[in-house]
Amino acid sequence: MDISSAKAALKKYFGYDNFRPMQADIIENILQKQDCVVLMPTGGGKSICYQIPSVILPGCSVVVSPLISLMKDQVEGLRSNGIKASFLNSSLNSSEQRLVEEEFFQSQIDLLYVSPEKLLSQEFFPLLKRANVNLFAIDEAHCISSWGHDFRPEYTQLGFLKRQFPDIPVVALTATADKITRRDIMDKLQLEDPQLFIASFDRPNLSLEVRPGQKRLEQILAFIAQRPKDSGIIYCLSRKRTEEMAAKLNDRGFRAAHYHAGMSPADRDQVQEDFINDNIPIICATIAFGMGIDKSNVRWIIHYNLPKNIEGYYQEIGRAGRDGAKAATLLFYSFADVSLMQDIIQKNESENTEVQLAKLERMQQYAESLACRRRILLNYFGEDLNENCGNCDICKNPPEYIDGTVIAQKALSAVYRLKEQVGVNMLINVLRASGRREIMERGYDKIKTYGAGRDIPFVEWRDYMHQLINLGYLEVAHDQHNVLKLTPASKRALFDQEAVQLVKMTTVKERLKAEKAK
Ligand code: ADP
Ligand code: ZN
Repeated sequence: MDISSAKAALKKYFGYDNFRPMQADIIENILQKQDCVVLMPTGGGKSICYQIPSVILPGCSVVVSPLISLMKDQVEGLRSNGIKASFLNSSLNSSEQRLVEEEFFQSQIDLLYVSPEKLLSQEFFPLLKRANVNLFAIDEAHCISSWGHDFRPEYTQLGFLKRQFPDIPVVALTATADKITRRDIMDKLQLEDPQLFIASFDRPNLSLEVRPGQKRLEQILAFIAQRPKDSGIIYCLSRKRTEEMAAKLNDRGFRAAHYHAGMSPADRDQVQEDFINDNIPIICATIAFGMGIDKSNVRWIIHYNLPKNIEGYYQEIGRAGRDGAKAATLLFYSFADVSLMQDIIQKNESENTEVQLAKLERMQQYAESLACRRRILLNYFGEDLNENCGNCDICKNPPEYIDGTVIAQKALSAVYRLKEQVGVNMLINVLRASGRREIMERGYDKIKTYGAGRDIPFVEWRDYMHQLINLGYLEVAHDQHNVLKLTPASKRALFDQEAVQLVKMTTVKERLKAEKAK
């Protein structure tokens, strides 16, 4: 099997003439029976990467997906394209399940979508052993990581696939994964030297805007009044808020519905359908809404509350503008939301409280930052974008910049000399020669940059450090107690004399003050 038969299948089953960048490479990898990890934004075209191999290879591909509610639609869509696909999950009764199992066993289908529970069940295993499986595709693979925002404990057991079926390639796909999650996916699935494919996460057609969270209702009404015909989603933290918000919008003559996990499945399906079919343009929802919703003409997304982390935020705004046309996103930010989220994380006795709090802090820094928002987002996902985007509120209304090259060099060289072992506060204390006992004990006072940043007050340093992180000159290792790590960009700033533009610290304060006063 080679890539030309893949291209023929693309035309035959999907009607497309060409692969998108990366799809062909991924498919080739799979055809060569190599494990791979695919990171591609929603709408990027991940599914085709396993669907094409499934139709050209002998045997059946098994797709593990947590989205039981969507399997039926996915399978129907494939069937209407002439692909033999079925699904297995708890929504089928036992005789229906037996029929599908028989199809699978007889290799009468090319693709089997299966829930992790079903895949992991005792009675399914003998079948899996005897069937002719050519590929395991793990969809929404970030669910495997408890560092991420959508952890599914069943997913962590999927490592058994590689142990039991070492010769069958595994492809893990996700639209959201920072480096920790990425590593977790590889570890937990026990992939063998997997090839990593990272598509660009840039969505230049989405405008980005953050506003202070005062008088949100008024701001929202004005925002949607400017786009009376457009579809959009308002994400709220609480179920109650989604209901209130929808009611208020309806009172004012907008057609809006609410959506949250506390509603009956039938009601939820109805709302989802009304939205997809453009019967109801506005949905006020918790983050339960949207996973897997394939609607290309969502024109705007509003976050009524601050999201828990940047992954979630980026995934949610990513539901707008999938058709490539312009779409607007608006995030409301308030200190109150930050402390509310902190409380929620702390009460939610998960094992990773420290990481969740650090991620929330990154989200807060994004909201407070005066650097190009897209640069922050893409840097967060490890993409090295070193120019401003022109399509965010900061680019449209830029603050006063200073030449921060020397500041950056001091900080980065200290990180380097401290062997990437310290966090922000310790680094600043070293730069400012604070003389703390810990510094002396560890011998940090012996490094060349000790005291090199004495002239800058602590709070200012903190702000510059956050800017350097946001701009990708430094990375926070959330899984190593938030120590600072160097990046490709930091090497350019240190060794290639790349100029670093920073925002003047006073401007940050002034802006925040001005915004608070509003
Ligand atoms: P993802 O799973 O990454 O969210 P999908 O696989 O659902 O994305 O693809 C998103 C859309 O892009 C679908 O409508 C799909 O048919 C389309 N698409 C995927 N690959 C191609 C291609 N090579 N050429 C044209 N359209 C494509
Ligand atoms: Zn920008």
